[in-house]
Amino acid sequence: MRVSIIGTGYVGLVSGACFAEIGHTCICVDVDPRKVDRINRGEAPIHEVALDEMLRRLVPERLTATTDLTRAVLDSEITFIAVGTPFDGKHIDLRYIREAARQIGAALREKRGYHVVVVKSTVVPGTTDEVVRTALEETSGKKAGVDFGLGMNPEFLTEGVAVSDFMQPDRIVLGGIDARSIAVQRGIYAPFTTTPIIETTCKTAEMIKYVSNSVLATLISFSNEMANACSAMGGVDAADVMKGVHLARYFTTTMPSGERVTAPITSFLWAGCGYGGSCLPKDTKALSAHAGAHGQDMPLLDAVIRTNDEQPARMMAILRKHFPQLRGVRVALLGLAFKEDTDDIRESPALPIARMLVEAGAIVTAFDPIANSVAASVLPASVRLANNLGDAVSDVDAVLLVTRWDEFRQVPELLQAAGKEPLLIDGRRFLARTAVPRYDGIGL
Ligand code: NAD
Repeated sequence: MRVSIIGTGYVGLVSGACFAEIGHTCICVDVDPRKVDRINRGEAPIHEVALDEMLRRLVPERLTATTDLTRAVLDSEITFIAVGTPFDGKHIDLRYIREAARQIGAALREKRGYHVVVVKSTVVPGTTDEVVRTALEETSGKKAGVDFGLGMNPEFLTEGVAVSDFMQPDRIVLGGIDARSIAVQRGIYAPFTTTPIIETTCKTAEMIKYVSNSVLATLISFSNEMANACSAMGGVDAADVMKGVHLARYFTTTMPSGERVTAPITSFLWAGCGYGGSCLPKDTKALSAHAGAHGQDMPLLDAVIRTNDEQPARMMAILRKHFPQLRGVRVALLGLAFKEDTDDIRESPALPIARMLVEAGAIVTAFDPIANSVAASVLPASVRLANNLGDAVSDVDAVLLVTRWDEFRQVPELLQAAGKEPLLIDGRRFLARTAVPRYDGIGL
């Protein structure tokens, strides 16, 4: 099928590349001409494993990019909206969704024949049926369910493994205002013959996405609260506790061979310095605000959010235990991306930690294998960005590990080779307690 996708961020571009990979012809649209140019040169404007290689292969035969949204809609049969949906402090900010829908509607006014518009962005329940439908109908002069179809297909990919998540999805959720809108989406996903497909209303599809993210955020904050309790009690390590918890049969499966395999969900049941990224922080806040607007408080979700907001300061508390006076203390901050294998720094716990360190007078050197350049403009000016890991940890009093980059496994070796024994505070419980002479961490 001929597919257009509005927004070429982590979701839009990965979706476009993967749709092209499974045989569709994709036109990716963005308002940012620099992104469009890079994509048309076969380069990914974001860091995502396998994406560059796919673009080199797929551009321009199966995938192209443009700033011309109207042309893209006219030249396709289905349009996915994958623009950002930030949280503005009180509500989900739907301005990009509304604008994209209005532009698509204006294009549909000129279009003959049936077209389906599908919201892929994460939007609060009711957005597709109300906000998007209204914008499309007003600007097209046409009627949803008669002249064009409307659907909601939430995306569950995880940055860093986005391509493999998209190509091997756990489930595909297809919301639609009618059977035809869903049937066209089913056609798009036809090659995924073994994946469970849920066909439902747009509103339910929207809520499935929020509940999925909220349960993950809840497990993380739950684990962090338990870890903080372990630290407060003393003499008990949250990492050991969690390993014991993971072995319950609810979290561990015994394979026919007898091998016991821990379920992936256990990665969310682990002590850390908090979740970040463009999804969990804003989606939990948007859901709580949206439910509140409908008269339903969400005290549990609010506590999840609060625990997470406070978690980066735990790193500072641990550091102050060892260095009550932080002025002049030289600190290496390892990891700026919110998670490993991505350059996305949105809501990364590293950012408030960097700010708190600078405010306390510490001398901060930061390093991320991929996100250094993206972070440069948002970090406090006094933070020095190291060129490599060795440079970052070469002459410091403390190392704060914030992201689980595989490269950081080399830290103990680097310190040993340099004959240095700085304190290492493990914000992800990533390294063994015995890996360095002076180790501390969340949940210890
Ligand atoms: P992003 O900020 O990386 O990308 C959004 C893109 O849309 C930007 O390139 C922007 O220039 C473009 N854009 C905005 N308005 C436009 C318009 N009118 N026309 C054309 N382009 C326009 O966002 P993202 O991380 O890809 O997220 C997109 C949506 O998907 C959000 O709702 C997010 O919550 C959801 N989501 C994100 C992830 C993730 O891991 N990033 C996973 C699942 C769902």
